[in-house]
Amino acid sequence: MNAPIDWRAEAGRISFRDKAFIGGLFVPSATGKTFDNISPLDGRVLVKIAAGDTEDIDRAVKAARAAFEAGVWADQAPKARKRVLVKLAELIQKHANELALLETLDMGKPILNARNGDVRAVAECVRWYGEAIDKLYDEIAPTPKTALALITREPLGVVGAVVPWNFPLLMAAWKFAPALAAGNSVVLKPAEQSPLSALRVAELAVEAGVPPGVFNVVPGFGESAGQALGRHMDVDALAFTGSTEVGKLFLKYSAESNMKIVSLECGGKTPNIVFADTPDLDTAARGAADGIFYNSGQVCDAASRLIVEDKIHDVFLAKVTALAKSYEPGDPLDEKTQMGAMVDATQTKRVLGFIEKGKAEGATLALGGRQVRQDTGGFFIEPTIFDRVENRMTIAREEIFGPVLPTIVFKTPEEAVKLANDSKYGLEANLWTNDLTKAHRIARSLRVGTVTINNRDGGGIEVPFGGYKQSGFGRDKSLHALDKYSQLKTTYISVG
Ligand code: NAD
Repeated sequence: MNAPIDWRAEAGRISFRDKAFIGGLFVPSATGKTFDNISPLDGRVLVKIAAGDTEDIDRAVKAARAAFEAGVWADQAPKARKRVLVKLAELIQKHANELALLETLDMGKPILNARNGDVRAVAECVRWYGEAIDKLYDEIAPTPKTALALITREPLGVVGAVVPWNFPLLMAAWKFAPALAAGNSVVLKPAEQSPLSALRVAELAVEAGVPPGVFNVVPGFGESAGQALGRHMDVDALAFTGSTEVGKLFLKYSAESNMKIVSLECGGKTPNIVFADTPDLDTAARGAADGIFYNSGQVCDAASRLIVEDKIHDVFLAKVTALAKSYEPGDPLDEKTQMGAMVDATQTKRVLGFIEKGKAEGATLALGGRQVRQDTGGFFIEPTIFDRVENRMTIAREEIFGPVLPTIVFKTPEEAVKLANDSKYGLEANLWTNDLTKAHRIARSLRVGTVTINNRDGGGIEVPFGGYKQSGFGRDKSLHALDKYSQLKTTYISVG
């Protein structure tokens, strides 16, 4: 057995990359400006980070374009790119503790979630796309004998990626791994709340053999660096994960610049529908609690609307409430902690605002509702459950992105479907029932990208993930993600 890790001591020893990573080198921002990187564990400034802006984005795009044109990556055989990406996955695994610590210090998630959840999934993602890329064949169209029509898949060129802070490295990997595998160069802008892990992984990528300039990371704010990437005239595609509000801005940036391809993974308000005939109510209750309290509810597909059949409402809510107590916020560096911090003061205030709104609109506060551990200087909110919520209320409609669970009651399957679909979002739905026919029928009626039945998992890297409606378009994960990072070219040859 491995010796236990003293994460606090490790945190004291860790070093931070604080500059932009452009052309294979760490460089200060062109203006010399920096911003404070604050830890949500205790509110202290971890490090000052280079504040990337228009000029830095331009330098990164130029480096990415030069590498693409030179063919140092794009022209390598797929199996050569595979070897490098598999090596990168190994380096990520080798540095798993360091990367997990960066995630925890930067955004407040429990250390074991970071190491055994996020970092493991990042390594798997990078390995998966590496291993996939030399097994994909192109097409020949069914033409007359007098012609040969080749349909080939080609990299786009320069891909921009803008990602959020809730799973900082994993959301980045869902973009950069397929984009790199397909032969593109990448410019990544991590969220200003959580730039540390991406900067370290870009460095590891060069160590693994990704040529300098192919993978660049520019930290900075959304309105400056994010917008500059979205509006850049020489970026071929922009892959975004974040809020619906900002996702819409990227469509505008594209329309007002070079019509770059945009893909959007945006918000969600996942309905978690629990029928009275659920095979195992305890498992369903664990799914409901984990679905909203994991990562302090800062999850795009958090099970953020509990829609429960009236017959089991009391017993089910009692089970979820009992489980919620095990998510009492604790020190994110303590391996026993199940729920850590909110990402920052702004998000904490926002979530507390939603809790007040819930009370004001007449929902019943059944558990929690307060900010806690304020003596630490960090940002923590206790697990919170609302009962007697109506789907028209703000807490049932808006994405709270915090540990707050509204409970809504239904009587018939038709009503459950109507409630579930009555949302501007369509990312995911969870369904618990013993009736296979009912489950299939309802799954078909739900306007969402993923339906889970009798589980909360939703699958790993091998299945696509993305939204209907205002949850966005385009898919992350699976081979389908490669569609976002490649063009189809037809070459029609006369052979008659
Ligand atoms: P956000 O939209 O505020 O920020 C996301 C990214 O966009 C950040 O890098 C930010 O700097 C940048 N940005 C912000 N304003 C910008 C602007 N004006 N122009 C250009 N870029 C800008 O989102 P967030 O608060 O970081 O993350 C939470 C959101 O992310 C939630 O809505 C959540 O649902 C969503 N999310 C979705 C998925 C998914 O796969 N569907 C996954 C994780 C998170």
